[in-house]
Amino acid sequence: MAFRELVGVHLGKSERGWVSGGGCKMVQLQFGQSKELLRVLCLGAHSDDIEIGCGGTILRLLAQFRYVEVNWIVFSSGRERKAEALNSASQFLAKATRREVTIRNFPGSFFPFKGEAIKAFFERVKRQVSPDIIFTHYRHDLHQDHRVVSDFTWNTWRNHLILEYEIPKYDGDMGVPNMFIPLDEATVRTKARILMDSFKTQRTKQWFSEDTFCSLARIRGVECNSPERYAEAFYCRKATIQL
Ligand SMILES: [Zn+2]
Repeated sequence: MAFRELVGVHLGKSERGWVSGGGCKMVQLQFGQSKELLRVLCLGAHSDDIEIGCGGTILRLLAQFRYVEVNWIVFSSGRERKAEALNSASQFLAKATRREVTIRNFPGSFFPFKGEAIKAFFERVKRQVSPDIIFTHYRHDLHQDHRVVSDFTWNTWRNHLILEYEIPKYDGDMGVPNMFIPLDEATVRTKARILMDSFKTQRTKQWFSEDTFCSLARIRGVECNSPERYAEAFYCRKATIQL
């Protein structure tokens, strides 16, 4: 199925089925019923990756769903960045029914050379969680740590919905995502504000700025004809649709 041809996607356990896009040519898919428990697994190589890649989506899910359990795993972090990550996660996940935040200290930039240990960790997580949806890195991300996490995600969960998020960076690997979650401006600005407030060690990086996060969301909003102007975008490599 050519997801690029869709504006949005209506997934999960809903009996409501396909929903018309209100004049939009594309089909919208939704995540089940808001009264159902939604179990979410977020995976990020570094302390701010999850927030940058899918922070707005997490805020929106928690605003709309009554019961959301979130497992939030950061693979690499030093003492200072761990404190930042915990602070940020507590703000993003404030409305979660249950949240479990795990911050590991695999050495940043060396993930390809630490594959055995990281794989063993994935196997432990696999026995502990059974998520409805997994957010992870983009398979063709040009940061080597991001790719390792993405590869092990697919290697570990083989019957799950996996959405790969994007991280803007110097290397220039922005691609053409095929799945969009429309967002309103307030949510995008909240995401950017928590990022800027929480990750003070990152502020010296030229790309780490509020306008980077908001402008990318605006472009993705354009690409999916978002009624709220903004969106986060993902790569969905495979999904089944129950008719
Ligand atoms: Zn990263």
